[in-house]
Amino acid sequence: MSNGNIKTIKQRSNDLTPDEPGEPAPSSLNRSIHEFDFNLICEYFSTVERQGPGSPEITLKALSFIDNLTDESRIADVGCGTGGQTMTLAKQAPGRITGLDLFPEFVQIFNRNAERLNFPDRVKGIVGSMDNLPFQKEELDLIWSEGSIYNIGFQRGLNEWREFLKTSGYIAVSEASWFTDERPAEINDFWMDAYPEIDTIPNKVAQMQEAGYIPVSTFILPENCWTEHFYAPQIAAQEKFLTKYAGNKTAAELISNQRHEMRLYDKYKSFYGYVFYIGKKI
Ligand code: SAH
Repeated sequence: MSNGNIKTIKQRSNDLTPDEPGEPAPSSLNRSIHEFDFNLICEYFSTVERQGPGSPEITLKALSFIDNLTDESRIADVGCGTGGQTMTLAKQAPGRITGLDLFPEFVQIFNRNAERLNFPDRVKGIVGSMDNLPFQKEELDLIWSEGSIYNIGFQRGLNEWREFLKTSGYIAVSEASWFTDERPAEINDFWMDAYPEIDTIPNKVAQMQEAGYIPVSTFILPENCWTEHFYAPQIAAQEKFLTKYAGNKTAAELISNQRHEMRLYDKYKSFYGYVFYIGKKI
């Protein structure tokens, strides 16, 4: 799911808070618009292969740095979405995997996929929030999170999730990152607005080390993770969605945000992208 969408929702619900002090917050209205937007976004993204940039090849590449897994291992995929990358992990990695996502619709699709692939005992999706993970201290051998940690913030996620990992357990996350120290204002402004925690690769690596992990590996996701696996499947989905919701302003805005992001990526892809950061808990 894109950073832009999340921001649009936050902005819209802020717009609904009253200007006058003392006036009660229109919480029911607020909630219904909030939910309506989430439902629309969920519906849109549940029709595509994945909800963030990535690919099966890149999931397997990241997994190749993890050397501690056995049949007894416990793995969490945080912000799993409909589970594209989780099913790739499950095919290759031993152990039990729990996918966790805030959106029940995504988790439903996730569990259907797990059953279809005959993983019902090893792979389970649950609804939950990444800021309150339902795991025991030091329970996990591996925390996986593709294109999701931005929802809580890279540093906060690394710090808070660490307690659920065993010593020498791994964390593997993909995160939006700058490739250069400087970049054109248009793309800088877009990201400062959408996710101000975007940073350069060396800064992110330093943050990982500060959070108590050995930085094991870092690599940039190739362009096809955005174009072929994330944006291309959305083109047909956008047409269908606009036809279904003809005249709906929120739907039109959602698609226009997606298209804007896609154009920005094409124009500025030499300045930013997603990077996998793999760390080992000290
Ligand atoms: N990992 C998937 C999905 C990435 S999109 C992929 O790469 O395709 C980001 C995901 O984070 C969405 O599925 C969204 O529902 C989820 N998400 C957003 N806020 C969350 C939160 N607080 N807790 C758990 N999941 C969250």
